[in-house]
Amino acid sequence: MPTCLPLVLRRCHACASGRLRANGKFRVNANHKVLDAWLLALCTACGGTARLTVLERMNVRSIRPELLDRLHGNDPGLAAELLQDPVVQHRNRMALDWDNAWRLDTGGSDRLDHEVIDVSVRFAARIPVRPVRLIAEGCGLSRAEVERLIAEGKLVSTVRLSGKLSGDFTFTLKR
Ligand SMILES: [Zn+2]
Repeated sequence: MPTCLPLVLRRCHACASGRLRANGKFRVNANHKVLDAWLLALCTACGGTARLTVLERMNVRSIRPELLDRLHGNDPGLAAELLQDPVVQHRNRMALDWDNAWRLDTGGSDRLDHEVIDVSVRFAARIPVRPVRLIAEGCGLSRAEVERLIAEGKLVSTVRLSGKLSGDFTFTLKR
């Protein structure tokens, strides 16, 4: 689950830094019936303000009132949602850096000593992480042990456990 907003990977206009931090604030500009909205982000190096386009030249009447309320109210959840929106990411040519912006919640580990455990992993946000790392952390194993259990067929899943995942999966661990 996320613990804070991820960093935005995009070039700062004022300096050479490629990292911006959204502060959760929005700027909305309505001109007659046409509206623009931006999510504000500060450069982590120079502090310069960047505007990430959320809505561009939209007719006010075509925007859901609920969304307008959230923009005007600087809704903290909205910033998180929009940063993860592929349309917003594409429009602003940005990517996200989730390092140190999430944590694993195991909900307790009292069943880890069972001979066979079935575990389902749910992502509260589409955060790309290595399942090997999650399993190691959640089961109190080293990454090398997890790799060995996979190689020995004692750790199985319907998804590929190598590389990164950002969506829900399940695995079975037999000892
Ligand atoms: Zn900068």
